[in-house]
Amino acid sequence: MSHTSKQFTIDTSKPVAVTGATGYIAGVLVQQLLEQGVTIHASVRDPSKKDHLQYLQNLGEKNPGTIKFFKADLLEEGSFAKCFDGCEIVFHTASPFQLSVDDPQKDLIEPAVKGTKNVLNTVNNTPSVKRVVLTSSIAAIYTDSSESKNNPLNEETWNRTASLKYKPYNLSKTLAEQVAWEMAGSQTQWKLATINPSMVLGPGARFHPSSTSFKMMKSLGDGSMKACPNNGFGVVDVREVATAHIAAAYIPDAKGRHILNAENTGFYEIAKALRSHFPKYPIPSYKMPKTLLWLIGPTMAGTSRKEISNNCEVIPNFDHTKSVQELGIKYRPVAKTAEDMFQQLVDEGVVGKK
Ligand code: NDP
Repeated sequence: MSHTSKQFTIDTSKPVAVTGATGYIAGVLVQQLLEQGVTIHASVRDPSKKDHLQYLQNLGEKNPGTIKFFKADLLEEGSFAKCFDGCEIVFHTASPFQLSVDDPQKDLIEPAVKGTKNVLNTVNNTPSVKRVVLTSSIAAIYTDSSESKNNPLNEETWNRTASLKYKPYNLSKTLAEQVAWEMAGSQTQWKLATINPSMVLGPGARFHPSSTSFKMMKSLGDGSMKACPNNGFGVVDVREVATAHIAAAYIPDAKGRHILNAENTGFYEIAKALRSHFPKYPIPSYKMPKTLLWLIGPTMAGTSRKEISNNCEVIPNFDHTKSVQELGIKYRPVAKTAEDMFQQLVDEGVVGKK
């Protein structure tokens, strides 16, 4: 596989399960597995929506692997049983990824935590499953960039600062990953590895309008973002994230958590890289001054002063050594990731010229 330096054997004789196959990351994971000739049991909430699944069906037709769809919902106990039957590997990617919700308990925590329990209870009842790769997040490691001021954050770090009131998405990912490690530790049938990506960008199997990653990239090019918020974050390419899932599934010794992060960067740096390739698009060229954000953030942008103070003008520091050493991940530059994703938005008519 081109995004890893490790050699490993992909067993195509048994199917693998991918939960939430309609998601952005899952789409690229499905694509790479199909390219390798794997048979995929893909869980989706509503397989009767044929149009919604056509792009995945098309990927199945043009690649050596095979895709079969199974109906399952995170909140419906036992609904993953048919999907997992006969699978040796389960990739659990399904979880709501939304930064702003009405009811964090109901909209984020419950599907993430109950969903993970539900999925892993079914794994416990499916003797063929030997390994689970969970899509966790850097959100299970940190809440604010200021937390890495003194030391780079690595896989030893757990998020202890998110709450229902402050960054509940981070809380949902932390609690879900903790439940997964507890359940993994109480049995011997299967092993767990987690992938903890920073902000994932890069071209999807198609444009996903509801994906937070695509919404962010779209806002940089459709004229809605007039100035770049000056906060830092990590970015990683979706193609490397997909490969990391596969490496964590098939490398026999892969274990534990894996931070996936290509570069510690920010909106302004990404916008700058895009402007040089797409000069005719309304990509912002100004950094929003911290003082202005401090004044208007809480009322106009829904950003609290705590969040501004802990993140504005602070670049986080994530250590990705383990992903390179254990999974062999070869990271491409974020500028190239952003360029390829923006090109997809241009090709699909999602952003227009000035
Ligand atoms: P998407 O929003 O594109 O996909 C989310 C997936 O989860 C969809 O397939 C969705 O199904 C499914 N899902 C949500 N709720 C339920 C439910 N109740 N029952 C069954 N399926 C459900 O997200 P991403 O691909 O971006 O994220 C995938 C995973 O990666 C998540 O766990 C997210 O936390 C994690 N992650 C994402 C990052 C990013 O930057 N994108 C960064 C780090 C981690 P449906 O299509 O039916 O809505």
